Amino acid sequence: MTGAGIRTDLPTRIRYSQGAGIYRIIPWGVARPESLEELRALLVLAGQHGEPVIPRGTGSAMPGNNVGRGLILDLTAFDAGRCVVDPDSRRATLSPSIPLSALNRAARRHDLTFPVDPSSGGWATLGGMVSTNAAGPHTVRVGSVRNWVDAVTVETADGPLVLTRGVEPDPGHPVVVRWRAEVDPLIRRHAARLEAHIPAVRKNSAGYGISYYRTSGDLLDVVIGAEGTLGVLTGIVVRLAPVQTDRASIRVAVRARQDLPRIIERLRAFDPATMEFLDRSFLQLVGPAAFAADGSGLLSHAGGMLLADFEGHEAGEAGRRSNAAAAAMVGDALHVRVATDPREIDAIWAIRHAASPILAGLSDGRRSLQVIEDGCVPVVRLAEYLDAIDRITALEQVDAVMFGHAGDGHVHVNLLPDLSHADWIDRVRRIYGAVSRAVIAMGGTPSGEHGVGRLREGLLAELYGPEMIACFRAAKAAFDPDGRFNPGVILGDADPLANLKVGADAVPIPARIDQYLTAIESEARWGESRWPLH
Ligand SMILES: Cc1cc2nc3c(=O)[nH]c(=O)nc-3n(C[C@H](O)[C@H](O)[C@H](O)COP(=O)(O)OP(=O)(O)OC[C@H]3O[C@@H](n4cnc5c(N)ncnc54)[C@H](O)[C@@H]3O)c2cc1C
Repeated sequence: MTGAGIRTDLPTRIRYSQGAGIYRIIPWGVARPESLEELRALLVLAGQHGEPVIPRGTGSAMPGNNVGRGLILDLTAFDAGRCVVDPDSRRATLSPSIPLSALNRAARRHDLTFPVDPSSGGWATLGGMVSTNAAGPHTVRVGSVRNWVDAVTVETADGPLVLTRGVEPDPGHPVVVRWRAEVDPLIRRHAARLEAHIPAVRKNSAGYGISYYRTSGDLLDVVIGAEGTLGVLTGIVVRLAPVQTDRASIRVAVRARQDLPRIIERLRAFDPATMEFLDRSFLQLVGPAAFAADGSGLLSHAGGMLLADFEGHEAGEAGRRSNAAAAAMVGDALHVRVATDPREIDAIWAIRHAASPILAGLSDGRRSLQVIEDGCVPVVRLAEYLDAIDRITALEQVDAVMFGHAGDGHVHVNLLPDLSHADWIDRVRRIYGAVSRAVIAMGGTPSGEHGVGRLREGLLAELYGPEMIACFRAAKAAFDPDGRFNPGVILGDADPLANLKVGADAVPIPARIDQYLTAIESEARWGESRWPLH
């Protein structure tokens, strides 16, 4: 202990050396502030030790934005339990430590819900979700977290800053003073160049939200998706939506990938609430068990599956729309199944939910790595993008499993390299380069929802051009002039494939802790606290 509850014993530091994703970086120390006073004392202490801070929720984000060499601030107990739902204004005021599932439990008492639904919502904190601009299956209809955040309070190096949508922030706050003096003029000067480089995609979590700020004028849009690099969120206000009680689902077996953009657009006409895609590679990995009882022989013929939900406020509304959508698919699809009964709906979706545990449980012979896992392209180029990934991974003889949010053109790719091949890292490196170039060339973004972290910072210059990078640097300097918050994330020049938790160069850790960290991942125990153990 160094004071203010900072733990520096090696077992604790190792427990926080990994999040989801590929990295292992042992921090200098770990602390778990419960109040604003404790948080402020820790920021002072970290400064005195010359250590940066890494804000962290449950550590389930994938691109290495929740690990680092400085002081990890485990915020899962911060202002514990603060979650006040106001049904009249349909808003919730909450601590960043609140998991999405807890927010939804509180909101449901008023027939309300937070409509963005990452699959990690059982544990992911609102602090982590706002900081990555998270998304989920419902994003196809409701957008990402950005659309639903009304205000945040961020603890900066210059004290707290309240940012509320549509409200001018305190003009005397040093961050705002620096922003107006340095960043606004830069954005104005480069306006045309900035616009030219914005990917034409439906989701984007790559870098600071300068383009959203240009439209809204709200600094809030810069802090959303900032991955803990601008300060520590200490309070959040979100908007809520009424719960839709009626639900029906549809499963469309697609003959070939080339049919995807057309079928997706046709489905969109029926206003689906979700629209997910399971590629053939996914069906082969996860499917046999899920389809054993189906009897439709889909597995051997389908190029992929689309799963979509329809929702409504009145009984029967969702079923009517899913039946109409199914009728419109006849002739276009290999097979269509509609489910209106809750058990049938669960059966249709079981295959999608089976993915993460199966992938996380694979062993070193086919180790699942998230390296190109978050690319998002214009929907019309979806099939082309999937084909490109197939081509590139086949060339390197590395298996890949693909699935994702079809309606948004967003594809999750898990590479499955065999770590016993001496050159596996070179193959993965070439895949990373070639797929990243392909996604940018297609007008896409390398991050649809997970963020940049330490994995994708080197891609931002190519994605956005030098003018946007200059704006990013100026934004970081306005909020965090001394680089105290999460350095090396979003802006940095480190090797994206260094500091890995797998392979010969991984920092060795005791087998007992290694097993514990592996179990968190394969059993999705992200909500479990790493703090009390010794
Ligand atoms: C199985 C699985 C499924 C997933 N599914 C989805 C999905 O469907 N959609 C999706 O978008 N993501 C998904 N993710 C990724 C991840 O769950 C999300 O990014 C989530 O929002 C992270 O929340 P967290 O509490 O774990 O944050 P962490 O991983 O701990 O942190 C994420 C980022 O937020 C910052 N941060 C956290 N709290 C604060 C704070 N109070 N102040 C400032 N910065 C902060 C951290 O510095 C870091 O940069 C999935 C992950 C897993 C393992």
